[in-house]
Amino acid sequence: MAKILVFTELNGEHAKGVALEILGKLNGHNVDCVCIGKTPKTAIEEMAKNGASNVFSLQSTGLQNYSAEGYAAALKEIIQKNNYDYVFAGSTSVGKDLFPRLAGTLNCGMASEVTNFLFEGDKFLGTRPLFAGKCYAKVEILGPKPHFVTVRPNALGMNAAAKAGTGAATDVSVNVGDIKAIVKEVVKGASEKLDLTEANIIVSGGRAMKNAENFKILNELADVIGATVGASRAAVDSGFAPHSMQVGQTGKTVSPALYIACGISGAIQHLAGMRTSKVIVAINTDPDAPIFTKADYGIVGDLFQIVPLLTAEFKNLLLK
Ligand SMILES: Cc1cc2nc3c(=O)[nH]c(=O)nc-3n(C[C@H](O)[C@H](O)[C@H](O)COP(=O)(O)OP(=O)(O)OC[C@H]3O[C@@H](n4cnc5c(N)ncnc54)[C@H](O)[C@@H]3O)c2cc1C
Repeated sequence: MAKILVFTELNGEHAKGVALEILGKLNGHNVDCVCIGKTPKTAIEEMAKNGASNVFSLQSTGLQNYSAEGYAAALKEIIQKNNYDYVFAGSTSVGKDLFPRLAGTLNCGMASEVTNFLFEGDKFLGTRPLFAGKCYAKVEILGPKPHFVTVRPNALGMNAAAKAGTGAATDVSVNVGDIKAIVKEVVKGASEKLDLTEANIIVSGGRAMKNAENFKILNELADVIGATVGASRAAVDSGFAPHSMQVGQTGKTVSPALYIACGISGAIQHLAGMRTSKVIVAINTDPDAPIFTKADYGIVGDLFQIVPLLTAEFKNLLLK
């Protein structure tokens, strides 16, 4: 049976959801997890619950802040020591930066941003969207092992029936050597909310928001329903929102359970980033706006009236 390692990023005390999704999908295989730094007990329990046999916490000077160079050196050591066949990670900002470097360093193949996969024996067969989600490619990885795979967050879903693993926690000292580029400080964005790519609910605003201050009404709705706020490129280019909030072809690709598009026309480049959302709700004054062709639920109306009404209604529902 293939030996598999899942690189697990942490979100405070918790393991990031995408790592648990991957573990759930791999349930029944021989899977270990690896984290950088001290791993909180809660996160270890979450990984064990989803099937992890071992949880390795890699420790070394130089790993306090993320750097592709330091993390790649640390992971390379444990991958080679334990002879893994496959190494998985979420296709997060870190996963997208780190895994190609790691695969390149080891001269091994990689499948990126897969949205589903299966194993035929020990052979990995993945699916990934191409051309802004218009078609899907089947991917295999050839050449020497280990093979690297990144998986799009929220694509697999959690496996409620996953059998627990032993989750034996081990601290491992690694030597990352001299890191040439050191990250001295991480300046967090204004939002403490979950990153768009991992969010389960997203409320996005378009050009119709008119200015940055008006995003307040989206933030209020987001606070009530536990959502992250996104934006169209027109809103970003107009200076209403930072680029980190942009959804679409030249922004972030998201796959939440619920996507609420407020005053967004539904241009092809916007759809490219959110069309795989499970449920799409569109609020738009124009009944012919293209977003309605993709929406599961459409509200023809002024977002400045509808959004506060939704916020009030959700508040009432949640207080009951
Ligand atoms: C190479 C390239 C890459 C691109 N990448 C991206 C990308 O990553 N992401 C992205 O979003 N776009 C991207 N675009 C831009 C894209 O083509 C559109 O221009 C953009 O998505 C439009 O944004 P919008 O829907 O907010 O604005 P608009 O198209 O102007 O739509 C505004 C909508 O708001 C509605 N509206 C107006 N007032 C109200 C109101 N009070 N209440 C409710 N509805 C109202 C209107 O009916 C309209 O449908 C890209 C374009 C190119 C060429």
